[in-house]
Amino acid sequence: MSHLTLIEVAVATPLRRPFSYLCPENISLPNVGARVKVPFGSRELIGIVTEHLDNSDVDTAKLKSLIEVLDQQPLQDPRIHHWLSWASDYYHYSLGEIYQQSLPTLLRKGEPAIIAQTLLWQLTEQGRALEPDSLKRAKKQQQLVVLLNSGAMSAAALKQADVASPAIKALADKGLIEQIPQALYPVCSWQEQHIIESDKHNLNPEQAIAVAAINVERGFSTSLLLGITGSGKTEVYLQAIEQVISSGKQALILVPEIGLTPQTLQRFQSRFNVPIVFLHSALNDKQRMDGWLKAQQGRAALIIGTRSAIFTPLKNPGMIIIDEEHDGSFKQQDTFRYNARDMAVVRAKLENIPLVLGSATPCFETLHNANSGKYQLLNLTKRAANASEASHQLIDIKGVKLQSGMSPQLLQLMAEHLKRGDQVMLFLNRRGYAPALLCHECGWLGDCQRCDAHYTVHQRYRYIQCHHCGDQHAIPHQCPGCGGTQLVTAGVGTEQLELAVNELFPDYASVRIDRDSTRRKGALDASLEGITNNDYQILIGTQMLAKGHHFPDVTLVAILDVDGALFSGDFRANEKLAQLYLQVSGRAGRASKPGQVVLQTHHPEHQLLQRLNHEGYLKFSEAALKERQAAQLPPFWHMALLRVECHDNQLIANFNLALRAIGEPLLIQLSIKESPVRQIGPMPAPMERRAGKFRWQVIFESSKRSQLHKFIAVLSQELAKHKASRQVRWSIDVDPIDMV
Ligand code: ADP
Ligand code: ZN
Ligand code: ZN
Repeated sequence: MSHLTLIEVAVATPLRRPFSYLCPENISLPNVGARVKVPFGSRELIGIVTEHLDNSDVDTAKLKSLIEVLDQQPLQDPRIHHWLSWASDYYHYSLGEIYQQSLPTLLRKGEPAIIAQTLLWQLTEQGRALEPDSLKRAKKQQQLVVLLNSGAMSAAALKQADVASPAIKALADKGLIEQIPQALYPVCSWQEQHIIESDKHNLNPEQAIAVAAINVERGFSTSLLLGITGSGKTEVYLQAIEQVISSGKQALILVPEIGLTPQTLQRFQSRFNVPIVFLHSALNDKQRMDGWLKAQQGRAALIIGTRSAIFTPLKNPGMIIIDEEHDGSFKQQDTFRYNARDMAVVRAKLENIPLVLGSATPCFETLHNANSGKYQLLNLTKRAANASEASHQLIDIKGVKLQSGMSPQLLQLMAEHLKRGDQVMLFLNRRGYAPALLCHECGWLGDCQRCDAHYTVHQRYRYIQCHHCGDQHAIPHQCPGCGGTQLVTAGVGTEQLELAVNELFPDYASVRIDRDSTRRKGALDASLEGITNNDYQILIGTQMLAKGHHFPDVTLVAILDVDGALFSGDFRANEKLAQLYLQVSGRAGRASKPGQVVLQTHHPEHQLLQRLNHEGYLKFSEAALKERQAAQLPPFWHMALLRVECHDNQLIANFNLALRAIGEPLLIQLSIKESPVRQIGPMPAPMERRAGKFRWQVIFESSKRSQLHKFIAVLSQELAKHKASRQVRWSIDVDPIDMV
């Protein structure tokens, strides 16, 4: 059997092991990292070769042969393979599935890895010889010849220059123009000359120190670039990237979902005359694959994208930057539950390149790593362009009559700012008209039948909707409980706030930015542009409005209602609230106008609000980290969450029994005295029912990460073998962020 060779292939199945296949004689042995088509059960799957095996002591009789080799060269280099298999171990997730997620959809499906080349129109020899005046009577054709005289152009570019297809066809028919494929950008050929100096700032001393500390020559390091909004972090990224460009390397830049705007792209474009891959949500599969391949082949210098862009391979890696590193969107909340930020740290180390994490409000994990010296801390303490600090104020609303969530004191302030011609921003993290519908006569509450949640009322289109499962109905006219007709709403959402504001301030235009108002494609960009152009004076929004946008004319920022978060059961609630508070207040007074931030609360004396207001985020986080340490919580202890859900509570009970039978002896067996693994639960999830399913969870934690991982690895393997685990949906979330 010596002519047969054995390979291991990672295929996308939940089973956490590779599968062995034979490579038949008539197929040349695929490289490690190449895609192959293999038979799998009754199906054919695309997998990645992970290893060549020695077949001397394997019973090959039972093995199947691979069907086809799709790539001559591996798509991802060995460092990426190393990295992905680390992720498989760390997140306890199938390597085959991780490979699938690391590839763009078309490559996943087996499409050839070829960049689609744009076609350009150029003049033929005959066309070049032509005297344009001879086309005097065909103005459009004449214009086209003149345009192409100065170089070949794509059909899209011609369309922009107002040349329509009849003219193109006419000239092509006459043999005066022809199509050629556009040459691909030569591999990693950018250099110092591609840096555009015109809008570059002279760095202030803190920025200069930061740029110098992010040194490409020195290889791997992780830096935390800590600075409030407007302190010049982006300028630091740009100047740090200069070293990358000068040396013909590539930089990967991750931004939160909400930060992927044309303005972001524009900032990089106006500083670097290099090919940029911009991975925004409007791309189709083909464009996505092209971007991925351009990065992989070294035909793009900068790659800017959201979470999943972390998987983009780089031919000549130079740097990774994660802007707003604390942002929740870097954590994937289903299937492969990775955190792009944490993955980036490991990748940067393997690629031996610097990683920069930027934020005004770093997450506690990152701060802890900076405190312990694992990350270098680069602090920008001043606003870069001479803007003044915002003033902060708490408005006590105990016993105060509110108008759609606004206190008289706030209304007064709004009037003052608006009168001065400035913009006002109202932040309320609740979309819809009202968060609940109830019957005034019998107290009936509109609850979702499938979740432990109330329906949200959406007044404009007259429906109620559960924001957890999407279940939607027309607003009932009668109470289902007593038949009464006095159905009233409780609480305030952004839709109601907008109506109230329009009524109270009829002379000013308002705009609402939330998931409902921005559903239409292009709607968000249009609203943001309207704000910049001062078409609107009152800005109302949820989280979406809070992040990263530049609104120089906003002078008053009001946070309407965050009291719920002050007393939440989630141990991260204080961290999240502080981040939100500072992100929102960062919107105020960015230009030369001083900003004012107000927060309405029933608990102005609350320690968290006091600390944030008087001492700032860093001091607040120091105290909060001490509490985390005392309570043995992350980042001091390490955590994994096992979730289980099913329509049938009995099947969950069976699963919990199996878990106990497997887990308890294992806990005893693996636990060392100094760093045991602790188990909390099984217990119902905070939202016990969602979309008709019962949900339970178990927390595992340990002061020693390796200990926790050893336990989870064996536990999940043993569980997977148990019948009870196949009748429910269960998953493991390492370093969970959302525990709901
Ligand atoms: P951040 O990313 O921290 O919000 P930016 O880099 O966007 O901050 O800087 C905020 C504003 O200050 C921008 O308009 C930027 O052009 C300007 N800026 C940044 N650095 C400097 C500097 N050294 N001198 C003058 N203006 C600067
Ligand atoms: Zn009723
Ligand atoms: Zn629901």
